[in-house]
Amino acid sequence: MRHTILALACSAALAGGAQAAGKNVSWEDIANDHRTTGDVLTYGLGLKAQRHSPAKQINTKNVKNLLPAWSFSYGGEKQRGQEAQALVHDGVIYVTASYSRFFALDAKSGKQLWMYEHRLPDDIRPCCDVINRGPAIYGDKVFFGTLDARIVALDKNTGKVVWNEKFGDHKVGYTMTGAPFVVKDAKSGKVLLVHGSSGDEFGVVGWLYARDPDTGAEVWARPMVEGHMGRLNGKDSTTTGDAKAPSWPRDKDGNLVEAWNHGGGAPWQTASFDVETNTVVIGTGNPAPWNTWKRTKEGDDPRNWDSLFTSGQAYVDAGSGDLKGFFQHTPNDAWDFSGNNSVLLFEYKNKDGKLVKASAHADRNGFFFVTDREKLANGAGMYGKPTGLIGAWPFVEGITWSTGFDLKTGKPEVVKGQHPPLPEAGADKGKSIFVSPPFLGGTNWMPMSYSPDTGLFYIPGNHWAMDYWTEHLTYKAGSAYLGQGFRIKRLYEDHVGILRAIDPKTGKIAWQHKEKFPLWAGTLTTAGGLLFTGTSDGWVKAFDAKTGEELWHFQTGSGVVSVPITWEQDGVQYLGLSSGYGGAVPLWGGDMAELTRQVTQGGSFWAFRLPPR
Ligand code: CA
Ligand code: CA
Repeated sequence: MRHTILALACSAALAGGAQAAGKNVSWEDIANDHRTTGDVLTYGLGLKAQRHSPAKQINTKNVKNLLPAWSFSYGGEKQRGQEAQALVHDGVIYVTASYSRFFALDAKSGKQLWMYEHRLPDDIRPCCDVINRGPAIYGDKVFFGTLDARIVALDKNTGKVVWNEKFGDHKVGYTMTGAPFVVKDAKSGKVLLVHGSSGDEFGVVGWLYARDPDTGAEVWARPMVEGHMGRLNGKDSTTTGDAKAPSWPRDKDGNLVEAWNHGGGAPWQTASFDVETNTVVIGTGNPAPWNTWKRTKEGDDPRNWDSLFTSGQAYVDAGSGDLKGFFQHTPNDAWDFSGNNSVLLFEYKNKDGKLVKASAHADRNGFFFVTDREKLANGAGMYGKPTGLIGAWPFVEGITWSTGFDLKTGKPEVVKGQHPPLPEAGADKGKSIFVSPPFLGGTNWMPMSYSPDTGLFYIPGNHWAMDYWTEHLTYKAGSAYLGQGFRIKRLYEDHVGILRAIDPKTGKIAWQHKEKFPLWAGTLTTAGGLLFTGTSDGWVKAFDAKTGEELWHFQTGSGVVSVPITWEQDGVQYLGLSSGYGGAVPLWGGDMAELTRQVTQGGSFWAFRLPPR
């Protein structure tokens, strides 16, 4: 009997010891994340999402000596893509994995502290693999989205569920893959948990939500389709843009077309936050369906119908959830270019020596945009107001759909014949056209980084194209809502992946690096002069951020489609990232899916450091 009691006492003590010591995360910790090397508290390594760390123990001279410190397997019979960016706090790594799993690991040893496995129903509808892109952290909790359209808060020390909010019907296509983000509304002083929804391929209306991080209760919600009604504190708030929805056509009876009710625009990636203007900045997804004619007045030119507020960058008030400004990367997007991937906030001096507070975004449509975020937080882009566009430059070769943007109107010059034609009478599909970039994009979800030291942005891009044709369709709940057929094709014989460094003042490419396989991992830069990323054939690589010279690589045993981080603990700088191949390319990638079939699956977290001296 005494023996049993002793054993119990012992296991309790062990459990306590294995828990994170329990320091809570404050708003100040989050606001300073970009400056502190001991932790990673935000998706994007700071509110501006620059993905730049001031850590410099690992540098261009010694990176060649980098070695694995430890590796942790996510285990399980099901593996698939590991796209997450991990967080680090108080010596604990918080990372999500495929199939809505969450792990807490000891950052020094890789030992598992706890694990949460979300019970998923059979009828979830993720478009692009069962991935998750990472957690958020605040107070004593960590947060992540699940494939059945929930957001879950866990006790960061134990992994126990604190709250669990269902935000959409997963049966009609709502899901969540993006990492949530923590902001603070300057007016009320309240800290809010901001997250979006996915589901454009199933014809959902995309929503952005702000919640009380303690309870999960919704504070505001903003639909991203023009004319739909938002909510604030449980009541109707304002419509998104003009309530008459002038950028969506009406049928002959004067009713808004079917597509408007299912119009997409889902903000499925992670926001950045402009503290000065109290603005949540987020990319919005493609309009639904992909078929441009379903969103164009019969017999009219698609260029007259923009499908607002899809495929662009949205500026949303942190307190009210009102849409304050918008820049559309692809008006009436006919190619699933979406606009979701990271919108980074940065500053630079223009040629008159004036400090410009800007946003930067590399779009799936192949153009790199620099916009004026102050103007956009103050009404730019809304119904005749100036656009806020500063520059738009191609960051990949071979763009077929547009020759460039008019900086005055903010509109692209769309090449004739690049809107896929309607099927001829009696035909079940339209004539196939050749489009580049394809819908998988000149880049995709994988976030770029910005180094204030070099003044360059680092874009993980791809050179490829598609055959593309129109198909008939009608909305059916829970079914794919595309109205397009496609086949992804190669553009160059020697490479698909194209990592590029671009100057945001001129659009000039400073250097490039080619990869045989598609690039599907994010980038990270450091004050050590380094750029880190991973490749679909399993390498994690380090480059000289100034010159593009490859300085180090390590084979992780499966494809890398995640986002690297770096942190310091007890005087040692670590590099960490997930390995595990999957994501959209093997599912949708046509010839490129064939190419990557040779990559074996996996699911693990790797940590690297310099050898002890
Ligand atoms: Ca930090
Ligand atoms: Ca899409």
